[in-house]
Amino acid sequence: MPDAKLEPLPQLKLKPLKPPAFCLSCKYNIAYLSEFRCPECGRSFDPTDYRTYLDEDPEVLRYNTILLNCTVISFFAFLFPIIGTLINLLLLSITIKVAAKAISDKNYKHKYLAITVPTLIAIFSTRDIFLIIFYL
Ligand SMILES: [Zn+2]
Repeated sequence: MPDAKLEPLPQLKLKPLKPPAFCLSCKYNIAYLSEFRCPECGRSFDPTDYRTYLDEDPEVLRYNTILLNCTVISFFAFLFPIIGTLINLLLLSITIKVAAKAISDKNYKHKYLAITVPTLIAIFSTRDIFLIIFYL
């Protein structure tokens, strides 16, 4: 007969989180933990409440932030001749590198975004070509 003190508490019967699961505070990987407290910073989380932990890889979120910020900058750069095209060519090289890293990352699920953003910026980079054609 097992000791009654060793019986698991009712809340510990909750299933551990499946990946991707990361601590909200320190981004530590908290998948498969049986104790619902971050071993790195001590922040507790509730596996039944998705607002208490990150359900996306912080690296994946970083890729999306870079790609979306580059799209916004690219759109405004598109409004200005020459300097805007130079900015867009720079943004194009950045987004191609980030998209290539993101696509090769098996945790990355937003592949459409990684393909769309460099394509859009490549189109914005051709602005001055359209301008030259228009004035000839
Ligand atoms: Zn933590």
